Amino acid sequence: MTATPAATGPAAAPRPAAPAAAAFDPVKVRAEFPILRQEIRGKPLAFLDSAASSQKPRAVIDAVSRYYERDHANVHRGVHLLSERATAAYEGAREKVRRFIGAGDAAEVLFTRGTTEALNLVAQTFGRQRVRAGDEILLTTLEHHSNIVPWQMLAEERGARLVVVPVDDRGVLLLAELERLLGPRTRLLALTQVSNALGTVNPVKEICALAHRKGVPVVVDGAQGIPHLPVDVRDLGCDFYAFSGHKMYGPTGIGVLWGKREHLEAMPPWQGGGDMILSVTFEKTTYNALPHKFEAGTPPIAGAVGLGAAVDWLQGLDLAGALAHEHDLLRYGTELLSRVPGLRLVGTAPEKAGVISFLLGDVHPHDVGTVLDREGVAVRTGHHCAQPLMIRLGIPATVRASLGLYNLRSDLEALAAGLEKVRRMFA
Ligand code: PMP
Repeated sequence: MTATPAATGPAAAPRPAAPAAAAFDPVKVRAEFPILRQEIRGKPLAFLDSAASSQKPRAVIDAVSRYYERDHANVHRGVHLLSERATAAYEGAREKVRRFIGAGDAAEVLFTRGTTEALNLVAQTFGRQRVRAGDEILLTTLEHHSNIVPWQMLAEERGARLVVVPVDDRGVLLLAELERLLGPRTRLLALTQVSNALGTVNPVKEICALAHRKGVPVVVDGAQGIPHLPVDVRDLGCDFYAFSGHKMYGPTGIGVLWGKREHLEAMPPWQGGGDMILSVTFEKTTYNALPHKFEAGTPPIAGAVGLGAAVDWLQGLDLAGALAHEHDLLRYGTELLSRVPGLRLVGTAPEKAGVISFLLGDVHPHDVGTVLDREGVAVRTGHHCAQPLMIRLGIPATVRASLGLYNLRSDLEALAAGLEKVRRMFA
């Protein structure tokens, strides 16, 4: 963030500098998360499961409860003051998200229940319009099930097929293959910005340019990108960008689909109901303008308010410092775990964010996770909703430690100490 330069010249009144965010202090930031203060089974909580869902700062919790205490009513249709306030809060959150992701137009920001719903929306509208029998939908091996199954359902319905870009043994996407697989029948490319299972960061901007050169639109799953990377949808050059509030310090039940206006205008509505219409008769319905055309029924108002508060909270941080802190944790954790005898890192891409996946000897990941839980260390074990990736890597599951801005080196030290216990138990 840059401060506005002070005006110069004899007549200029001194202007106060724009308040700069204080340098990122992880200990102070952690203190803003009430849930992290507790002990788990008598041990301090080391929460290393933020890729599944992050914890919430006091600012977000308070914004949601303030909304319910003071402002709640249904949005858009009311003539009374509370409805006006709720509408202002809901639409205000849309504007905050617009700014946060660098979108040009708040009408391009659709609120959904989360990434999953956002991706289903694209598949069932944009996808249905474009994909015909014999066509191809290009995905990657790194995808989460929610960026596979909606496309598979569409492909089955249409008689189209899924084509999958492979990865190497480190979990790096093979770009030359991606380019080769963008063929004359490719109707769209859907890929993740960051792998939830391995942490691989895909070069999305470069990939969008590649795809667009062949006239192929790109749908980006940003569920794991937005918590860890600065995101500017116009700079990325994608056609759609989907993410969830709950992975970026906001509430559950709210997510976003950003799409280019030209696409959203041309797409048919998805769900029908209140708010997405201008007029209804039994003969014909006229649909509402963007973004409401895609928001049928009472929307997740409090969720949007909480997401707006999460955006405010993130923007009040020294974001560059915060992301550097997370990167330092990733490096530190990787180093610590590399020293654990018998531990094998799964996913060693040079560009990674937020995730350390591993196996410990031949101890089953669930056993590792259960022992760690007794030490107060929360990790996720399993296939991480990425079974095709696990099959490619020849493993059924991993243990995954994932990071948030509130983690400290001590969390990773607790993880390493817990792994020593696991080793002793299973030796
Ligand atoms: N994509 C990725 C990469 C994810 O990590 C997740 C959540 N684990 C999703 C999609 C789905 O997000 P949600 O469950 O919030 O819809």
